[in-house]
Amino acid sequence: MKYDPATRIQELKQFGEFGGVNPSITDSSTYTFLQAHDMEDTFHGHAEGCFLYSRHWNPTNKYLADALAAMDDTESAWVTSSGMAAITCALLQLCKSGDHVITSVTTYGGTYAFLKNWLPKYNIEVSFVNISDIEGIRKAIQPNTKVIYTESVTNPLLQVSNIPVIAKLAHVNGIQLMVDNTFSPMIFSPKVLGADVVVYSMTKFINGKNDCVAGAICASKKFIDDLSNVNDGTAMLLGPVLDPIRSSSILKNLNTLHIRMQQHSKNALYLAQQLEAVGLNVRYPGLKIHPDYELHTSLMNKYFGYGGIFAIDLKTVEIAEQFMQGIQDKGVGYLAVSLGYFKTLFSLSGKSTSSEIPKDVQKEMGLSEGLVRFSVGLDHNIEKIFELIKLVLEDLKLIR
Ligand SMILES: *Cc1c(COP(=O)(O)O)cnc(C)c1O
Repeated sequence: MKYDPATRIQELKQFGEFGGVNPSITDSSTYTFLQAHDMEDTFHGHAEGCFLYSRHWNPTNKYLADALAAMDDTESAWVTSSGMAAITCALLQLCKSGDHVITSVTTYGGTYAFLKNWLPKYNIEVSFVNISDIEGIRKAIQPNTKVIYTESVTNPLLQVSNIPVIAKLAHVNGIQLMVDNTFSPMIFSPKVLGADVVVYSMTKFINGKNDCVAGAICASKKFIDDLSNVNDGTAMLLGPVLDPIRSSSILKNLNTLHIRMQQHSKNALYLAQQLEAVGLNVRYPGLKIHPDYELHTSLMNKYFGYGGIFAIDLKTVEIAEQFMQGIQDKGVGYLAVSLGYFKTLFSLSGKSTSSEIPKDVQKEMGLSEGLVRFSVGLDHNIEKIFELIKLVLEDLKLIR
């Protein structure tokens, strides 16, 4: 066992105001000060345990942030109103005009668009690299490089980042490593592996109910304090704070994450193996033919498997669309973007979540236009789900 994120969360003692087993919800934007000088101290960031204003800190958000910090073994965390808010605030906290960022070319589409189209407007230079090519990352480093950015498991090709090796390379050059762990909470502990800042879209597996959009930043106490500093903290000043009522519901869902990840992984592995066995081109890091199978196996925590996402390459948009329509009609799940839901979701990556990435770049990174990404649900009878998928494959003459 490398790290046990589930037990760390369960060991927390978080109670409600009147001994409730769930922490209380503080639905207040502002807080009274019993002593006048406490207000001044809080503004200067000195008054421990005092709350000032909910864009800065809210007690309910603090409970969720503490649980996320425990999950990822970081000193602190901050919760945001979306995954993109977490990514953009953390990046803007780490770099300023004139700085340089190195990023994996395969990232979530919104992240790619931010790095490609938005940061350059503010004179922040970005280099796109193949994150598996360590020599390529080394060559991309410049004197003004401040951040190396990647996803533990990249979207949608499920390439695994070698976090320990990249972290070492970053640190000897005075660079911070930032990792989006949205696809693999609990499976990977990026900070334990060497990352400095870990970000999440909690919209996905962590919340797991597709009833809200939310995000998180897990990092050192200093980084989170700087981020929420009233004078120049990016999160405090841009203001994408999570609503405390939503924090409370996400915290309850976080407490079942370890069981859900096990079931997502178990179901995804089963489907990936069966689809591979009938001759499809399947991308899943839990299959021995996946180029990063060994790397994933060596870095993952025990118990949570290889994750709930896999992709199959059906070559053309037309076939992929017929296939998705067919399996939706049969009741396999929903044709929808997003992931980490209790129902199976599927979408055409090139036309949806990766559509911000130009066609030629998609081709270069190996993202075929017929690539269908699956986020496998918590189905109890996954064998039946496979039989339904098989019927559609037979109908379309994709298998015999
Ligand atoms: C969805 C997603 C995001 C963006 O998160 P939102 O909550 O939609 O803002 C970022 N990274 C990855 C890997 C994602 O899947």
